[in-house]
Amino acid sequence: MVSKGFKREVLSIVGRENLWENPEDVLCYSYDATPLPPCNPDLVVRPTEEEQVARIVLLCAREGIPLVPRGAGTNLSGGVVPVEGGVVLLTTGLNRILEVNREDLYVVAQAGVVTAKLAAAVERVGLFYPPDPASMSVSTIGGNIMENAGGLRGLKYGVTKDYVMGVTFYDANGERVVGGARTVKCVTGYNLSGLMVASEGTLGVLTQAVLKIIPPPGARKSMMVVYQDIMKASEAVSAIIAAHVLPVTLEVLDSFTIGAVVEATGVDLPTDAGALLLIEVDGHPGQVEDEYGEVATICERLGGKVKVAQTEAERDEVWLARRKALSSLARLKPTLILEDVTVPRSQIPAMMAKIEEIRGRYGLLIGTFGHAGDGNLHPTFLTDSRDRGEMERVEEAIKELFQGALDLGGTLSGEHGIGVAKLPFLVKEVGEGTIRFMKRLKEGVDPRGIFNPQKLVAAYERDLERD
Ligand SMILES: Cc1cc2nc3c(=O)[nH]c(=O)nc-3n(C[C@H](O)[C@H](O)[C@H](O)COP(=O)(O)OP(=O)(O)OC[C@H]3O[C@@H](n4cnc5c(N)ncnc54)[C@H](O)[C@@H]3O)c2cc1C
Repeated sequence: MVSKGFKREVLSIVGRENLWENPEDVLCYSYDATPLPPCNPDLVVRPTEEEQVARIVLLCAREGIPLVPRGAGTNLSGGVVPVEGGVVLLTTGLNRILEVNREDLYVVAQAGVVTAKLAAAVERVGLFYPPDPASMSVSTIGGNIMENAGGLRGLKYGVTKDYVMGVTFYDANGERVVGGARTVKCVTGYNLSGLMVASEGTLGVLTQAVLKIIPPPGARKSMMVVYQDIMKASEAVSAIIAAHVLPVTLEVLDSFTIGAVVEATGVDLPTDAGALLLIEVDGHPGQVEDEYGEVATICERLGGKVKVAQTEAERDEVWLARRKALSSLARLKPTLILEDVTVPRSQIPAMMAKIEEIRGRYGLLIGTFGHAGDGNLHPTFLTDSRDRGEMERVEEAIKELFQGALDLGGTLSGEHGIGVAKLPFLVKEVGEGTIRFMKRLKEGVDPRGIFNPQKLVAAYERDLERD
């Protein structure tokens, strides 16, 4: 619980219009996009100036009050659930794009800027910000950096970390820390931008970032490839990468997901298909034609039927189908658990086979889609958290799924992070020494543990014991 004196001080910093404390007002900040038990914060504050962040951090540090930075709350690992109460600090008031620099190819934005708004502002001046998480119409730049968000274009253009040139954040002493620069190269000290990427709000409150932007591609071509068999589609993914062709996007939808998308959106997809690959190549027009030819040949050799989008409207429909995959599945059952296991691309067929085997053995509803070209699959469990028996089977199946990914040389999470949801499994991937190192780092910069308590490595001892 926070004291009345503490509330008064916070109120004097942000004003009544940017502070919420009644249980009904703070309720919607008690959870995020992860199906986990909610916890109410004591206070929700929305600073509109960066210097207000410094003062709020200092107050929390002085009184040892937990502080959970929150962007749009779309993360999928429980990252903004305030498990110990305290203050939720909304970054949505820090929503200004400060500079779009066409000459030097960077943009400076505050942490609460919505990803799609930043991408649109960059596009208006003829440039391109590639990271495009499916949540980009609401997710924030701060949340993207803290989770190292990926997107549909990750295969060719990389993920958020590849675009972070600099960061400004406030540490546990309320001090302003600046890492990186507006230059392409910068080696002045520790790589603090790298440190902040994927730190899940556990090391400080990010207020600004300098992000790289690039010239857009001159041409592009989208296609849908229809397979009768998901294993053949998986083999095609591995074969395209092995042939050293890098499409911008190489996505997969299994038959269950195709059916859900058609039912929810009416998009014209072949409902009798075993799987779809959605592929886009881009670049110089000549390169696009060459790469399209190579991709189409590989896909057809493995039994796929290639359908090229002839118009922008057809292209939009292809990508709408992919972007609606998650929300279409979510309509089918009360509880949705979205995983994001990631394996080396050559292991996609083996991982797909593992998912199919788990689905059959546990008798569960699992729709699988994802960034197959990145080796990043989203097996999505559809269940009902009130059905204890089924939930136990889901939990066991997820453990096997994680182990399967690790056995194939993969990782627990390609883009959703650890938060609280995957904490018990982290040690299996990185080992105790790595967790202890991360924990010492956390304790060194945040000795009172105010930033996002119990997330990532903060609670690891308990979890090691449980293991
Ligand atoms: C429908 C849907 C589709 C999605 N698609 C993708 C996808 O394609 N790719 C992908 O990678 N993810 C995806 N996600 C997950 C999620 O959208 C991303 O992780 C996104 O980056 C989170 O942004 P956010 O603003 O919602 O952050 P939040 O959920 O609010 O926060 C995420 C983490 O960042 C911390 N944080 C946020 N802002 C700050 C700050 N300023 N300073 C310090 N810490 C901060 C929080 O404490 C938390 O730990 C999807 C989620 C949904 C619901």
